[in-house]
Amino acid sequence: MSKNTPAPKGFIVTTPIAPTVPASALQDGDAFALPEAPDNHLIAQGIKPHPDLTSRLIISARGIPAPFTIHSDEPLQPLRMLRTFELTCQLCNRTVSQDLDLVTHGTPQTWVCNLCS
Ligand SMILES: [Zn+2]
Repeated sequence: MSKNTPAPKGFIVTTPIAPTVPASALQDGDAFALPEAPDNHLIAQGIKPHPDLTSRLIISARGIPAPFTIHSDEPLQPLRMLRTFELTCQLCNRTVSQDLDLVTHGTPQTWVCNLCS
């Protein structure tokens, strides 16, 4: 478990992320690798729709010299995808805002807070 993204206290049920995600799921700051170069870890630093080609994205990333064009359905290997979720306790309806790494923690489905669990 990453020190930077502690799981919320209490009990959380998550769905693990797939081994690959479509390029359209990337956001700035996400770490990922291209399937053909899994050891080359890249960090997205700018994702734009292609001005001329629909369903293509132009991705700038730390780790490569120039932006590349990719189909939005193209599978990428996710390495780190931090997202903020609003979690609501199933028992007391308390809500917390929680940063989770989809790769480490998965996508939250159900949460019971530390007071209820
Ligand atoms: Zn609760």
